[in-house]
Order: sequence, then structure tokens, then C-alpha cells
Amino acid sequence: MQCELCGRECSCRPAMVDGVKMMVCPGCMKHGKGIAVQEVSPSRSRPILNRIRRPKEKDVYKDMDKELVSNWSGVIKKARQKKGLSREELGFKIGERTVTISKIENGDLRPSDKVATKLEKELEINLFEEVSKPPSYATGGSGSRGGLTLGDFIKKE
Ligand SMILES: [Zn+2]
Repeated sequence: MQCELCGRECSCRPAMVDGVKMMVCPGCMKHGKGIAVQEVSPSRSRPILNRIRRPKEKDVYKDMDKELVSNWSGVIKKARQKKGLSREELGFKIGERTVTISKIENGDLRPSDKVATKLEKELEINLFEEVSKPPSYATGGSGSRGGLTLGDFIKKE
């Protein structure tokens, strides 16, 4: 086969030269853009997509967390009454003030993880549930924590 640019006998390859598809020799290839070799095949691009998606799935597992059940105040109050304990007695058992127990049972005070764990043991209840948290930047903050969300930190950078 002859090179369409210089006429040399060679193993020519198709290339775009000034927008025209021509068969050119390796020496003339620099004048144009190779076609066949550089075409992106769909089978090659797919694994790259998968590689991008994988970390996202990992993040979902990372966000698996334990959260207080939504009706924790009621659960605690019921369990305490079932045990026949007064608020004073329960507070004494877990080392918290009576007023703290009252506030928790009224839903005015969200028990800390530490207090909740003690309540769980003392009352033989389950106050935590496994939840898959949506990314905090997507929810805009539920307001329950009142602090900065991860999203706020990202925005500041
Ligand atoms: Zn040539």
C-alpha cells in the first residue's frame, strides 16, 4: 500500500489529515490524527465508571450509625414504670439527677449516648436503632444537633 501523503510504500494506517481520512505511513502519521488506534471503545470506559461508583457505596456503610429511637422519652418512662421505679430511684441507679430523668421523660432533654446506655442496661430496654444516615449535606441538618454539619465545613473550604 502507498502512503497517500508521500507516496512511500509502507504499512499505512488510516489517519485524519486536515479533516480528510487518508492512508498514511508511520512517518506521515505526525501530520494527522490516527483514527483506528485511538478510538475509545465503550468496553474500556465502563470499568472506569465502576471504579468511581465504588467509594460511594463504601460511604453508605460508613454512615451506618446507631441513633436513639424516635420515641425514646416514652420508652424510658414506660420501662421505668414497669420496673416500679420512681424517677429519684432511677436517677440514683444511673448516677443522674432526678430533674435530668424528668426532662428526659418529658422529651425536653435528649439523653447523651452515655446516659442512654446506662438507661438501657438499668431498664433492660433498647434505645438505639441502626440507621443509614443520608449525607448530612443533603439533609441540611435536622436541627436535632444544632451544631455545624459536615456540609458546613465543606462549604468553608
Ligand atoms: Zn508518508
